[in-house]
Amino acid sequence: MSITSFSPTCPGLFYGTSARDGILSRIRTPGGIITTQQFRVIADLTDKYGAHYAKITNRSNLQIRALKSLIDNDVLQILQEIGLASTNSKVDHLRNITCSPTAGIDTNQLIDTRYLVREVDNYIVNHPELSELSAKFSISFDGGEAVSITTRPSDVTFAAVIVDNKIYFRLILNGIYVGILVKPEECVSVVGALAQVYLAQTYLSIATSSQVSEKLLSEDNAENRKPRLKQILSQLGIEKFLEKVEHLLPFSLIKETPELNLLSYSNENKTGEERFGYQHIGIHPQRQQGLSYIGVVLTLGQLETRQIRGLVDIADTYGNSTLRLTPWQNLLVTDLPHKHIYDVKRKIQDLGLHWSATNIRSALVSCTGNTGCTSSATDTKGHALALAEYLDKRIALKQPVNIHFTGCQKTCAQHHKSDITLLGLTIEKDGEMVEGYRVYVGEGNSDDKFGKELHQWIPFEQIPQLIEKMLTVDC
Ligand code: SF4
Repeated sequence: MSITSFSPTCPGLFYGTSARDGILSRIRTPGGIITTQQFRVIADLTDKYGAHYAKITNRSNLQIRALKSLIDNDVLQILQEIGLASTNSKVDHLRNITCSPTAGIDTNQLIDTRYLVREVDNYIVNHPELSELSAKFSISFDGGEAVSITTRPSDVTFAAVIVDNKIYFRLILNGIYVGILVKPEECVSVVGALAQVYLAQTYLSIATSSQVSEKLLSEDNAENRKPRLKQILSQLGIEKFLEKVEHLLPFSLIKETPELNLLSYSNENKTGEERFGYQHIGIHPQRQQGLSYIGVVLTLGQLETRQIRGLVDIADTYGNSTLRLTPWQNLLVTDLPHKHIYDVKRKIQDLGLHWSATNIRSALVSCTGNTGCTSSATDTKGHALALAEYLDKRIALKQPVNIHFTGCQKTCAQHHKSDITLLGLTIEKDGEMVEGYRVYVGEGNSDDKFGKELHQWIPFEQIPQLIEKMLTVDC
């Protein structure tokens, strides 16, 4: 057992991916929940092999970049022992199962989904054949929390709803409500059937498209040729796909009908802050009386190892020795008695971190950029940090503004539209290559990937002033 550097599109812990800045490794943290013991080991690992920082991804994973050498077998064994590495290396690269970061503590929740995340994760570990699925296959549970993850892209989302005083989940496939209700106790079976049908269609699709046998799936280039669920759904049709799923189940799927009285936590009428999910930043009471959680802002989802150790100490001293990583690339310190909030805030501040949703960094997102990724046209990360520093001194926001820097169309850091998107574009000007951005705002039309195009190209040196002007108008 050792890390091998190879080229699947998505790295795992057992499969480092070569990047411009070294080997990239990803550690699955189902539901984004990580114990202080686990986080301490990550800090040690990052110091020993990496560049003294870890990143939180938009699936609440941990990413260690710039690994100088392979992680040895002894460390992998320790990671497995503390529950940070899958006991089945074959499925370790599959996407993290996510839930709301406030599952179990949210005052709005209909159901605590954490046990479902664990059950589905166990199911995957115990079904190695699922390793043949696209590594991008993603599953989420939304328990009706105020911090909803129904707006985060997932192949499969279960969204809690009340029907006649009972809890069900509405099934969402690739962002579309497909008119099916699932009982909580049926979720794992439904995931299994969905995955099996998807897998069978994956084999079929590859065999049909290339006129080759299934064994091609084991070849190096197979990962890139595996269809995403949305392709399967569009080829087969949702109805036919669900028929095949139902065929594998020992029960019938419950169809939503207009007579059913569905009560769910709606995304309509939400403020921008709520729609984008950043309302978890700051101090919030939990459903457990006398306890609060603090949503801590991490600049571009990054944590230095000294900050990890500091947060771990805070969680051990004041909380419940657990931290929660969010798909918004921030984290929560939970279960804090009210009387300790002042001390915790001070200690977070001492680490160079903060908890204000209106800080420009709270909703600032960037992919790695050209220092770590060869596909990037620009130094997105460096530019995002420079923008934050510029705006820090000049702007006081009234609500979070989601600004997204991306080095190419792939949008690794954030898959949905943002308030402002900056798409990297390098052009030649007077014999020199100049890094700049195409600028998009808001939602635009439904077929606009990034929103409405505002500027075709602006050199980065003019971006900070431009954004300042845009935010001053909006503030
Ligand atoms: S979005 Fe593009 S440039 Fe940025 S990390 Fe992903 S592949 Fe690289």
